[in-house]
Amino acid sequence: MSIYDPEAEQADRGELSQIQLERLQATLHRVYKNVKFYKKRFDALGFLPEDCQSLEDLSRLPFTTRHDLAASYPYEMFAVPLREVVRIHSSTGSPGNPIVMGYTCRDLRHWAKLAARVITAAGVDRDDVVQVTLSYGLLTSAFGLHYGVELLGASVIPTGPGSTARQVQIMRDYRTTVLVSTPGYALVIADMLDEMGVDAKNLHLKVGMFAGEPWTEDMRREIEARLFLTAADNYALSEAMGPGVAGECQHRAGMHINEDHFFPEIINPRTGELLPAGELGELVLTTISREATPLVRFRTGDLTRLDYAPCPCGRTLARMSRIAGRCDEVVVVKGIAIFPERVGQIIKGFSGDEPVYQLVITREGPVDKLAIKVEVRESLFFDKMTLQRELVHKLTQRLTQGIGVQPQVKLVEPNSITREQETSPLVIDLRQ
Ligand SMILES: [Zn+2]
Repeated sequence: MSIYDPEAEQADRGELSQIQLERLQATLHRVYKNVKFYKKRFDALGFLPEDCQSLEDLSRLPFTTRHDLAASYPYEMFAVPLREVVRIHSSTGSPGNPIVMGYTCRDLRHWAKLAARVITAAGVDRDDVVQVTLSYGLLTSAFGLHYGVELLGASVIPTGPGSTARQVQIMRDYRTTVLVSTPGYALVIADMLDEMGVDAKNLHLKVGMFAGEPWTEDMRREIEARLFLTAADNYALSEAMGPGVAGECQHRAGMHINEDHFFPEIINPRTGELLPAGELGELVLTTISREATPLVRFRTGDLTRLDYAPCPCGRTLARMSRIAGRCDEVVVVKGIAIFPERVGQIIKGFSGDEPVYQLVITREGPVDKLAIKVEVRESLFFDKMTLQRELVHKLTQRLTQGIGVQPQVKLVEPNSITREQETSPLVIDLRQ
């Protein structure tokens, strides 16, 4: 199996760290100079870009959230003038405004190259015919892989999504060897093959590249058996770039992250603390080569773990495990969408500390009930009842204004949420 960019993908870890540090420093200078949002944040901490002397210094900086990006709609997060931007994508699924991402010429060149790495790792080469059934449009999904396939020199068939019978016809007549889709759509195609009486063994499919929604090993086995191909997982994050962030090699033991362009950290999603390698937590990415819309410590909301051990494929890039779930999923209470992350921001705005909290949703008859547990300092918890009542009252008011639903705020002892397990969920939904 070949490696698209051996120099980068098999780099010595020491040299990689040096490249990461140089790129990180350049990124911090760029955002400090050009993005008001970051300048304000760094100034509030008394942090200057030159204070970043090692990769560890990054952890002194605050996180960037989807909420921050939506609040910067449309162009506030751009670090270059609009005339240098040659492509604009946007994503939905955030509270309020969409998130807008810009790309310079250089960003697009990097994107195609990184996608080509991921495509090659999945086992695709220049003799392949790649059918892209993802959405072409404002979303990043199809375009990233499309240009990666072209850069690699394989053939791309940009069908986009839908018309499954036509997809199957094209797959058969054009002798498609690689299917790019969501895992769910791969199964829709498998059903259509059955319906049309087409035997997958008579098609030419060799590899499937799947991303865009959570899937399991069971699903992988089913897709492989029914479509007669090898199914590879890849990680696409539109806010950071799109597809090309990470992808599996043939050893299928995690997705190699393109660490020379994305610096990964794993944090405890409740406390924001850094977790050691190997622990399950929320993936935080800093883009270290993006020109148009660089992100510092972006909270992806995806739960995964990192493995820095060398891979038998020869790549030295760290691997992230299959996404184990989301930690910032929207929950709908009384018909109103609530972002748990937003709850954290409101509590933090109120107390100043990084809050430890948990949402518990129950249903009494037809009515949803939302309780928000917040850990408070021991001194407050044990003696000052009036102070406690006042705090609950004010926090309830603030949260009701902020999220549109009146929660029952419960102050709990320090460590009572944390005690259970490292990644006890941010949301417990007991309505099912
Ligand atoms: Zn590998």
